[in-house]
Amino acid sequence: MADWLAALDRRAELRARAGLTRTLRPRAADDPVVDLAGNDYLGLATHPEVTAAAATALSAYGLGATGSRLVRGSTDAHHALEDDLADWLGVDRALVFSSGYLANLAAVRGLTQPRTLLVSDAHNHASLIDGCRISGAETLVTPHADVAAVAAALAAAPGRPAVVVTESVFSVDGDLAPLTELHEVARRHGALLLVDDAHALGVTGPAGAGGVAAAGLAGAPDVVVTATLSKALGGAGGVVAGPAEFVRHLVETGRTFIFDTAPPPAVVAGVRAAVRLARDGDALRAELADRVATAVRRLGGAGLPVSAPDGAVISVTAPGPEAATAWAAACRERGVAVGCFRPPSTPDSRSRLRLTVSAGVRRADFERALDVIVECAREVS
Ligand code: PMP
Repeated sequence: MADWLAALDRRAELRARAGLTRTLRPRAADDPVVDLAGNDYLGLATHPEVTAAAATALSAYGLGATGSRLVRGSTDAHHALEDDLADWLGVDRALVFSSGYLANLAAVRGLTQPRTLLVSDAHNHASLIDGCRISGAETLVTPHADVAAVAAALAAAPGRPAVVVTESVFSVDGDLAPLTELHEVARRHGALLLVDDAHALGVTGPAGAGGVAAAGLAGAPDVVVTATLSKALGGAGGVVAGPAEFVRHLVETGRTFIFDTAPPPAVVAGVRAAVRLARDGDALRAELADRVATAVRRLGGAGLPVSAPDGAVISVTAPGPEAATAWAAACRERGVAVGCFRPPSTPDSRSRLRLTVSAGVRRADFERALDVIVECAREVS
């Protein structure tokens, strides 16, 4: 074996010994497993109106966008989706990207100038962390949801441009950032606030408009929102939403916007239908909230260390990475898919099962899945 491949094998062996092996498992279209691992929070990925809109656009435009947005990739479907997203989120303008990851890279970088200080929450998603890194700006990581630490970081950098970077509903434990307080602190210091609403869009806020809207910050001139279109909206792609001047800046300078092929028009058209359904989705959100409350009650009642979720994401702490892997595998054998989060995918050293609740799963299946999780916890402990 070539030296470099042998070196990679040794590293894989070290990961295996630490219980950190990751493997891909193909999922069939008719997979019978009860899904508490995906992010299709409202069940819109398979909604007939969504797939019909995508199918119609697929016939009309073909498979791919055929170019980047500034060349040939900007179809009327893209512009219509951006208008709808801006209207929903209550902002001047929205810009669609191929993924939430790329949207975050562009947003963080676009907000930085040479002397900018980025103040980033310790639980932020990898895409925000990478955005901070590629921006080249000095980045201070503050303890999770610690408003006083953010205030202290800003106070220690008087006169410098600064951006507070956070998620709204955090992807690991499902808790909500103190957005009102963070905005207040940011404004006091003349800083901007960047919020990744990936797990809140469609799930919280008025008409599902997300955590920023729920905090009354929609359209604020010092707030920029990002989100993925792949979770509650059931599709793919990302969005940056905020003041028109900032969006124009990204159109003209955002590398992950300019140099990336536009997202496929069929996906964009499907997501547009999903936005319509999500805006009208109060009944789905009520069902989702009821399921989350049921899950917390049942799992907590069984003595499991369950997080206090503000959205559809729930985490249950496992004793360690091996235990988390065994627990998730036992659930899977019993027909329940759960997320298994271990370092380095966790912001601390805690391994967890991550459960994502969806209104799209049959209620009886969901309830049975909760029983399975509790039973499997007892078996593996
Ligand atoms: N931000 C957060 C908080 C996420 O959880 C994710 C998805 N894992 C992303 C951004 C990236 O979005 P996408 O999958 O569309 O690239």
